[in-house]
Amino acid sequence: MMIANILTIAGTDPSGGAGIQADIKTFSALGAYSCSAITAVVAQNTQGVRSFVALDPGFVAEQIDAVLDDVRIDAVKIGMIANAAIAEAVADRLRHHAVKNIVLDPVMVAKSGHALLAPEAVAAVRERLLPLARIMTPNLPEAAVLLGRGDDWTAEAMRAALPELLALGPEWVLLKGGHLADSAESTDLLAGPGGVTPFAAPRLVTTNDHGTGCTLSSAIAALLPGRDMVEAVGAAKTYLHDALAASAALDVGHGHGPVHH
Ligand code: PLP
Repeated sequence: MMIANILTIAGTDPSGGAGIQADIKTFSALGAYSCSAITAVVAQNTQGVRSFVALDPGFVAEQIDAVLDDVRIDAVKIGMIANAAIAEAVADRLRHHAVKNIVLDPVMVAKSGHALLAPEAVAAVRERLLPLARIMTPNLPEAAVLLGRGDDWTAEAMRAALPELLALGPEWVLLKGGHLADSAESTDLLAGPGGVTPFAAPRLVTTNDHGTGCTLSSAIAALLPGRDMVEAVGAAKTYLHDALAASAALDVGHGHGPVHH
């Protein structure tokens, strides 16, 4: 099989742990070729986000066109979208190029608490981007915002939310349970045409968790060409688990360190 070409549309992390940089490392580690279109340039490190500059939406569209006019793209990962105008531009270009295999990580707030998506952009993400997604990968706080519900979750509430999340338009949803309180296990639920598949893993105790969401969604995008969804998500979870375990050998920054690719 030819090597898969994967495009990430996301924001940057100059300290290398999250965003576009994590996406590219993940694609490479999984044997794929990486293309990248930048939505926002972010001043951040392992301690937090300081500020960001969102690029002009027309220029984000030009980057996407430049790639898709030339390169066969087998899957797209969408990360930080920054604002409603960029959400519209990205949706417009992906629709125009009839891109398949879109993995949408609905990034909203960094671990440091800094908003990476303008609150007024949630409607654009919900209405324009979600219907294009082959899969979306919200964590619990993101799912709460997308559903307009409170952020008080139980294992039962997670299951109950799956049909509501699917009704927003993606073919599949991976609802990530890592934020669920009082649980020794971190269970993610994958829901889609085949029903619900739980992915349980023992909770890893580490402070090296910067960019974990970026890494998981990128791994799904890199692994999706040539695999079915359950297989791709399972392999992506294994990849993230191994990257988290390997992060103990990294000495990068003073905050939430990155995972090792
Ligand atoms: N920076 C960018 C550009 C991101 O896209 C994301 C999340 O997806 C983050 C930071 C979040 O990093 P953290 O894992 O520390 O919350």
